[in-house]
Amino acid sequence: MSNSKTVPEPNLIAFVSRIPFVEVQEWISILNELLPDSDICLFDRLTDLQKTQCTLAVVANPDPEELRQLPNLKWVHSTWAGVERMVAELFVTGSEVPFQIIRLVDPELARTMAEAVLAWTLYLHRDMPRYRMQQESVQWIQLPYVAAKDRTVTVLGLGKLGALCAKRLQANGFRVLGWSRNEKFLENIQSFSAEDGLKTVLSQSDIVVNLLPLTNDTRGLLNAACFAQCLPGVSIINFGRGATVNEADLIASLDTGLISHAVLDVFEEEPLSVNHPYWAHEKVTVLPHISAPTNISSASKIVANNIREYYRSGLVPEAVNHNLGY
Ligand code: NAP
Repeated sequence: MSNSKTVPEPNLIAFVSRIPFVEVQEWISILNELLPDSDICLFDRLTDLQKTQCTLAVVANPDPEELRQLPNLKWVHSTWAGVERMVAELFVTGSEVPFQIIRLVDPELARTMAEAVLAWTLYLHRDMPRYRMQQESVQWIQLPYVAAKDRTVTVLGLGKLGALCAKRLQANGFRVLGWSRNEKFLENIQSFSAEDGLKTVLSQSDIVVNLLPLTNDTRGLLNAACFAQCLPGVSIINFGRGATVNEADLIASLDTGLISHAVLDVFEEEPLSVNHPYWAHEKVTVLPHISAPTNISSASKIVANNIREYYRSGLVPEAVNHNLGY
């Protein structure tokens, strides 16, 4: 009797992306190390037969056409937390998307975002834009100090990122309000929902932080009508997605002084065009989409764990709701 064992075929997983090749190589090499029973293979290197064998894909800003060439996909795991571009591109024709989309949920990403939100809230809270302008015009003017407890900061979107940001702000002494689709129960953070809830939070906020995903409901949500409901002199931090803010309305509100300052990390078009009025606007701080970059070391472990668990138990991680778009 032969005692030779048949070695099981590795699970073939496509890597589909439009990110720089060095990053692709890093992802594939780390994932192959973390998942020795799988073969994570670059889409371009798959044969037609192999494309039909892939039931899973790891994606980073994937080309939807390439995903359509993988007819047996059950789910795809994004290496990014925000999947709005993928969702928009996949659903553009109104066609059914036959697989589930899993986005990255990484506590390290939430920690990084909470750090960024705290940093830029403190920048606004301690009047740094004003002092910067005063220095440029050689002015020595001491502005009155306002304690953090006397500043109200609202976080729009109390999801994986927003909830931790709200807690971090609250722990740093700010009065914090939150707004989300469903009311949340977070200690010492008043939570609101729906249109009247938005009106309530805007009318009380000194600083509004956007961490909403971009969906049909949130596109252009922060517009002139919304700014008109804010406390005069409010500041805006947009770390969610650019198109949630109506750019022309924001610039108009900055120009009239209704909004004092905007810290923007995300834009409708990225990189921001060299001619965009934001660059030269004295009341705008432009950041090049850096508030919470994916950390490949922690993210790859999360992606690998989800895939390992799926092959072990058949359990698919919590997926994006195709109807809601997040
Ligand atoms: P998430 O866990 O899906 O949370 C989304 C939150 O928004 C939830 O609280 C949800 O309410 C709320 N929401 C969605 N639609 C709403 C609506 N129409 N009205 C009111 N509330 C609504 O997402 P996340 O992980 O926190 O990430 C949020 C966004 O951050 C991402 O979508 C991405 O755009 C952005 N992001 C930016 C960067 C960066 O570097 N700038 C990095 C990563 C992510 P419910 O809880 O009631 O469902």
